[in-house]
Amino acid sequence: MKLSCTGCGRTYPARIILYRCPECDALLELIHPEKTFTRKHAWKGTGVWRYAPFLPTKPLVTLGEGNTGLHLCENLGIPPVHVKNEGENPTGSFKDRGMTVGIAWAKKLGATTVACASTGNTAASLAAYAARARMRAIVLIPSGNVAMGKIAQALVHGAKVIQVDGNFDDAMRLVQQTDAYLLNSINPFRLEGQKTLAFEVCEALGRAPDTLVLPMGNAGNISAIWKGFKEWKAAGLISKLPKMIGVQAAGANPIVRTFRGGKKSCRVSRPETVATAIRIGAPINWTKAIAAIRESGGDAVTVTDREILSAQKLLAEKEGLFVEPASAAPIAHLRKKKRRGLVVCVATGHGLKDPEVILRGKPKFVTIRADLKSLQRVL
Ligand SMILES: *Cc1c(COP(=O)(O)O)cnc(C)c1O
Ligand SMILES: [Zn+2]
Repeated sequence: MKLSCTGCGRTYPARIILYRCPECDALLELIHPEKTFTRKHAWKGTGVWRYAPFLPTKPLVTLGEGNTGLHLCENLGIPPVHVKNEGENPTGSFKDRGMTVGIAWAKKLGATTVACASTGNTAASLAAYAARARMRAIVLIPSGNVAMGKIAQALVHGAKVIQVDGNFDDAMRLVQQTDAYLLNSINPFRLEGQKTLAFEVCEALGRAPDTLVLPMGNAGNISAIWKGFKEWKAAGLISKLPKMIGVQAAGANPIVRTFRGGKKSCRVSRPETVATAIRIGAPINWTKAIAAIRESGGDAVTVTDREILSAQKLLAEKEGLFVEPASAAPIAHLRKKKRRGLVVCVATGHGLKDPEVILRGKPKFVTIRADLKSLQRVL
């Protein structure tokens, strides 16, 4: 097992703590010895750790992550689509897939303090897994625009929650200057856990989908899932790879701009969107994400906040799936653009994370006197 530079190709031992290539500053990814990719390996348990032969460590810290539902949705007014509901994870987002592996690796390294910058869900997940692993957790969140449920989770698990007077990108810059073991998606071990979503989708469908649609913030997830599909194919378990479609909010669309404009950098200065999980101006994993989109023949697209909120409501009312705004972005995209074949959308996080977005504005329910006549009147 080695860390390999996605820029210059140099390799480094996996046990050195590195987040970027010391030579060229590019991102790193984990390379496994080829022989681990076989179906003959005994898979124990369900969820993320079912795929232990594809992962860098044994399950040292787990809360039962992965094994989320793949729900066929036929009532959205678009061709049938499968929704992979990552809100079914222990802390309510896909971040748990990465965190169970990232924390296990931290434990192996002997780390006692772990840290992240977060728009909320990484903080919630890190706090829960650090508690389980008896480690100290430090989370930096941007001031304002973090969903209440996520802050409550980080606090209840006993993390040190620090609000930074700035946006996510400021918090990210700061946390990288601490000595703590970092568990942002810059950490290649975390991405190893997140790639298991691809394995579950392929096993459930008996093949890879034609298209996978997901929201992009720091773009670790699209990079991880693409790596997963490629490894599953290399193991001979699927024959074709899906197109990867990354969706961003119109007000926070650096990857779309760079993808379309062929630019050498990736940044917007004042990211703004109701989908706080993807309110990111300088995505850490943009080079990996653009490579995944290019290699797969996919696309990077935007949707507006209005389209996001409308898709969120539709998914809840027509399919019984309550997802947070960022997670509705793929459905918002599919309502604008038809995609042929077998389509899977990744619903990245649970709607209860951010109840305020639903309850905002004037009350949407009636109050009556406690008698039958009053009830009948409103029915
Ligand atoms: C973290 C997160 C995203 C963005 O994932 P990236 O890997 O940063 O692209 C999208 N939706 C939700 C709910 C998230 O928590
Ligand atoms: Zn390099």
